[in-house]
Amino acid sequence: MKLGNFEVISLYENKFRIDGGALFGVIPKKIWAKLMPPDENNFITLEIHPLLIKTGEHNIIVDLGLGDALSDKMKKIYGVESPSHLTKSLEDAGISLEEVDIVIFSHLHADHSLGGLKLGDDGNMVKLFPNAKYYAHRYELDDALNPNERNAATYLIDLLRHYDEIQGIQNDGKIIDGIAVYLTGGHTRGHLLILVQSEGETLIYPGDIFPTRHHLKPAYIGAVDSYPIDSLYKKKGIINECLKGDYYIAFDHDPDIRIGKLKEKDGNIFAESVE
Ligand SMILES: [Zn+2]
Repeated sequence: MKLGNFEVISLYENKFRIDGGALFGVIPKKIWAKLMPPDENNFITLEIHPLLIKTGEHNIIVDLGLGDALSDKMKKIYGVESPSHLTKSLEDAGISLEEVDIVIFSHLHADHSLGGLKLGDDGNMVKLFPNAKYYAHRYELDDALNPNERNAATYLIDLLRHYDEIQGIQNDGKIIDGIAVYLTGGHTRGHLLILVQSEGETLIYPGDIFPTRHHLKPAYIGAVDSYPIDSLYKKKGIINECLKGDYYIAFDHDPDIRIGKLKEKDGNIFAESVE
């Protein structure tokens, strides 16, 4: 879609699965299963939607998905059944791998960070975007490179190390004209929201603060969030800003709505697709 002078495209990287309880936290299964029916093993299938922003001068991707470098064991854990579609999805958007010059990671969990890596024919790891500069919050880099027992399964440090030059963002604010990042915390300590603005129009990519539209309800917070109460307050603030400013919102994992706008009816917040 057009956003002012920019073109913004929600890409499709792959599908993966996650335990329904992990995705909905304290919400009883009886309630969430009506919104996202699980399979017989309690898994819900999510999509991965990196965001491409074409400014005319720069081609920026926010998050990269799971990629093709996972071990067979990890592929099984994540329920990955097909190769990454990222290259094809970029091709469809008219962008070559060489033309991507900026990658911003909302955070470094495997389903957001590893899509820029692939195993070369010689068995060495290759970076998909040879001309890209990579950014993540410095807290995120610290935590990903020093995982604890609770998050080690999702910060795949041996793979992440192949991005040898991710720049640690110190402060909120501008990456380039029209693209800024804000520390949300919540899902992870260094989780970022990405704000895209052109000609008075605004789109936010809130990453895993709102993985799906069902997470617009304040208490719907995944058990995978490291700081759930921070997520709660951030969510309410972001929803207010979106409604006030009539912002577009890009969902990173929603199987049905990729880019939408928020509406309020009888005190309930919901998203309407704009694509
Ligand atoms: Zn995620």
